[in-house]
Order: sequence, then structure tokens, then C-alpha cells
Amino acid sequence: MNLIDLVFPRKCLECGKTGSYICDCCLLKVGKPKPVCIQCEKASIDGMTHARCKRKLTIDYNYSGWKYGGVIRKGILKLKYNFAYELAEDLAEKFVSDLQNSSNILPREGILIPIPLHRLRQNWRGYNQSIEIGKLIAAKMDWKFIPDLLLRKKISRPQTELKEEERMDNIRNIFSFNPNYLLLSTFQARGLSRPEANYILFDDVMTTGSTLKEAGKVLKRHGANIVWGLTLAK
Ligand SMILES: [Zn+2]
Ligand SMILES: [Zn+2]
Repeated sequence: MNLIDLVFPRKCLECGKTGSYICDCCLLKVGKPKPVCIQCEKASIDGMTHARCKRKLTIDYNYSGWKYGGVIRKGILKLKYNFAYELAEDLAEKFVSDLQNSSNILPREGILIPIPLHRLRQNWRGYNQSIEIGKLIAAKMDWKFIPDLLLRKKISRPQTELKEEERMDNIRNIFSFNPNYLLLSTFQARGLSRPEANYILFDDVMTTGSTLKEAGKVLKRHGANIVWGLTLAK
């Protein structure tokens, strides 16, 4: 037993069964959200944005692994306030195995971009859980990973504190494209081809989707080809 086991024993956050932070039984109880179009929130195959809902800068697909409840909610909250690498590993592994089984629309080659947090909103140890889990998911999916492609301009109030109509205003124009990546050479130095690639935007939880939509706009404005919105839970 190593130190981390003593501090944070590997047992299910919901039922206490030992072996994993997220046991399969509790995971099954959480359930999966129905795939919907991010624009109109009506049913859509593979989470594709309906042709009729598509505008110039809209996200093309969205996928959420689970509903935001039970053991998944506990895991995400734990990472937010007290990041634990082993828990992030467990979550990423279960997420990716589901993703590979249930989605045939994801790109073989893509660049995962975690939604940036303002640094004052990162937790006291400086962790941004979306960066840490995003990195694990990108590695498992064999995607490239650029944590600093998008910058966050100013502190916004947490989206969860706001009414739906306030959320769009709160988040409008909050993201910008990192000027370093306007140079093709910056991409190439990191083993990437061109900025007009397939991008996978990643966040831990999706509420109304306004954060993903806003970040997606910035990528599309800078020539992104197809943009996916990927979240652990919804
Ligand atoms: Zn359990
Ligand atoms: Zn739609």
C-alpha cells in the first residue's frame, strides 16, 4: 500500500466497495443522457447538430458520457475541490471505454482543447481538472492536446449560479485564440499540421452548453474544420 491509498483509499465514492473509485454497478445507475443537438436540445443521432440548426460558427457534434448524478457527480466534485490523480485516471478510463463503444463519429485524428478556467478559479493547488482529465483522455484516444490554445479573458461568475438567460451574457466573448498559435510555425513545432484541424473541446460538466458554444465560435472563427463538444457529464 502506498501513501495515496492511505490518504484516499481506492473504494467506490458511492457505495464504498473497494477496488475502484467508480464501481461498475454505481456507474450503471447514473445512466447516459440522450444524444441531442446542442442548438435546439432536441433528439439527434450521435449528438449531431441538425442541418437546420447549423450556423456559420456552431459546434458540429456534442457528446456527454453520463448524466450528472450519483457516483459521477461525486467524482467530479471531488476532483474540482481536491484533485486526485488516481480518481482522474479511473474516470478517464471509464469515459474512454464508453466513448469508443458508443460513438463512431469521433475523429481518429483530432486536437483536444480543454475549456480554460480563469486562473483565480483553479483550485488552491493550481489544478484545472478539465486540463488534467483532458490530457488523460487525449492520450488514450491518441489525440493531440493543446491546453493553451484558448485563453480566458476575465473572471465570470460560475455558470451554475445563473439563470439560463444570464448564462449567455456571462460567457459572451470570454474566450480568445492564443495569439502564439496564429503562427503556423507554433503548430508545427508541436508536431501539429494546420490550424484548420478537427477540434475536440473538453469540459467536465455541460449545463446549457453555452460555454462550449462560445469556445466553439472562437475555434471556427480561426478556421477550425469540425468541432466536437465533449463532456464527462451533463
Ligand atoms: Zn459503487
Ligand atoms: Zn437542432
